[in-house]
Amino acid sequence: MRQLRLKGQGVSSGIALGRVFILERKEITPVKISIADAEIEDEVRRFHDALAKSRDQLVALKERVRKEVGEEHSYIFDAQILILQDDILIQPTIEKIRGEKINVEWALQEVRHHLESLFRDIDDAYIADRGTDVGDAIGRVQINLGHQQVETMEGLDENIVLVARDLTPSQAVQIEKNRVLGFAIDTSSRTSHAIILARSLKIPAVIGLHDFYFKVRHNDRVLVDGTEGEVVLNPSPTLVREYLFKKQKYEDFQKELIRCALLPAVTLDGVSVLVQANVEAVSDIPLLSQSGAEGIGLFRTEYLMLCSAHCDPSEEEQYEAYSAVVRGVAPYTAIIRTADLGGDKLGDPGSHVRENNPILGLRAVRLCLKRKDFFKRQIRALLRAGTHGDLRIMVPMISGVGEVRQVKQIFQECSEELKSEGTHFNDAIPLGIMIEVPSAVTVADLLAQEVDFFSIGTNDLIQHTLAIDRDNDAISYLYEPMHPAILRSLREVLRAAANAGIPVSLCGEAAADPLFALIMLGLGLREFSMNPAFIPVIKRVIRSVRAEDLNDIAVQALLRPTAQEVEEYLLEKLVTRFPEAMMSMPGGFKGDV
Ligand code: PEP
Ligand code: MG
Repeated sequence: MRQLRLKGQGVSSGIALGRVFILERKEITPVKISIADAEIEDEVRRFHDALAKSRDQLVALKERVRKEVGEEHSYIFDAQILILQDDILIQPTIEKIRGEKINVEWALQEVRHHLESLFRDIDDAYIADRGTDVGDAIGRVQINLGHQQVETMEGLDENIVLVARDLTPSQAVQIEKNRVLGFAIDTSSRTSHAIILARSLKIPAVIGLHDFYFKVRHNDRVLVDGTEGEVVLNPSPTLVREYLFKKQKYEDFQKELIRCALLPAVTLDGVSVLVQANVEAVSDIPLLSQSGAEGIGLFRTEYLMLCSAHCDPSEEEQYEAYSAVVRGVAPYTAIIRTADLGGDKLGDPGSHVRENNPILGLRAVRLCLKRKDFFKRQIRALLRAGTHGDLRIMVPMISGVGEVRQVKQIFQECSEELKSEGTHFNDAIPLGIMIEVPSAVTVADLLAQEVDFFSIGTNDLIQHTLAIDRDNDAISYLYEPMHPAILRSLREVLRAAANAGIPVSLCGEAAADPLFALIMLGLGLREFSMNPAFIPVIKRVIRSVRAEDLNDIAVQALLRPTAQEVEEYLLEKLVTRFPEAMMSMPGGFKGDV
């Protein structure tokens, strides 16, 4: 058997050695059949029966997953159950059956294609991936229309590496940690449920393998290195020995990270740092405590919008969700961000107008200020949820003081309305803004007089300051967090916040990059918020450095003229001063063999 090494993207770290199990996907290919008038209502009834059957299966699956895998994963099915009840699916399917006099299988297939394409067109990887939920839920209905058994993974062998073209959420949640050692997946979606699940179950996973699926056979020996993003088919005995050694070292390092996650983020010279989590769904909250997060620094509300009919949840639905966030994270703080729709995310729920330049268009706070009723529903829900714990509200994409004042005016209106209705609410919720537009950096001193806190969104700030589309691969090499223009901007924001005496946090992806976190620490930042998966590493890094030394290093780094020189300087200094911290750098832990 020839050894074959393939490079993909490592999305869940660790090393697995096992036997291939090829996961085949059942696909239904419907045919179009014209039906007579007299058959129409029978066809509609078949549709309702299949919806009900699918719903029952999903509820049962959810219950099974809750018991066997954990409460937090069972919520994955809520989105699918909601889809099956949504008018966005039911109405057009029935209209097609009745209007075009066609069989339900064909009508449903057309609606499925339409919905999947809507999701694909959304320029946000996380949300676009939720299209998989739509496909998966409808696929289940299609199978149930044909009276076939929905595929299950019961009876899987042990010690297997799952090889698949793609994994649907229904398949993903059935995976049992003690049987599945690793994932090798051909498609390359970083935010799919399969990946999220692999990470939380700590199963090593590599994606983006293109056609690995076609190269393997059941029972082949395979090695998955989720840290390096490599898969080896039929590894030689020498390679297996090397990897087993590496695996041991990796596992020791992981144990240390788990220990670190629960320790406070305090530097060697006693400076305390707050490390919080970025969260997108209420269902992620139960996982936070084990990551070591001390609260939520950014709760994105767009996913909640997406899960509701027409992206416009009622005040009551929002109140329930925000209250669950606040209660779930107690005794810590939850910073909830108002809707950041439009631009690279979901569009305006009330409009179908296409913008030529949506990134610079009617988005985020601009959209909210224009669609005042929509915004007020969210603010009222937040003010009410604020009675259940330490909730703070943050507004995205602020470009100047004028917008902040308009937002405050709306807060005022909502408070007065709630007061006159006699509805219980919190009228002292801190209001903060995201600093992610270059003009906000320039007038940070003025903005700091108006709000209670800042949170820096480097994802957008880098995009707008450097004029680099954050989702355009062709120019991604220019997307440089360490660019002197970015570092100077951040220094100014920190100064403005310090002068005004307000807290400032950083919640863009860059916060999870150890090198970037260290330079920010050196510039005086004391609050970070990031994807919970990165918190243990960042805490470990913080615990292995002296803040005072970093201060000098950061001042010197800021004199370097290019991002590359800044990085080189940082690495050179850190390697000698804090070798322990370097272990946690990307590629720093190689478990070298
Ligand atoms: C950011 O821009 O850095 C940010 C955290 O917001 P989002 O990624 O949701 O735009
Ligand atoms: Mg942003």
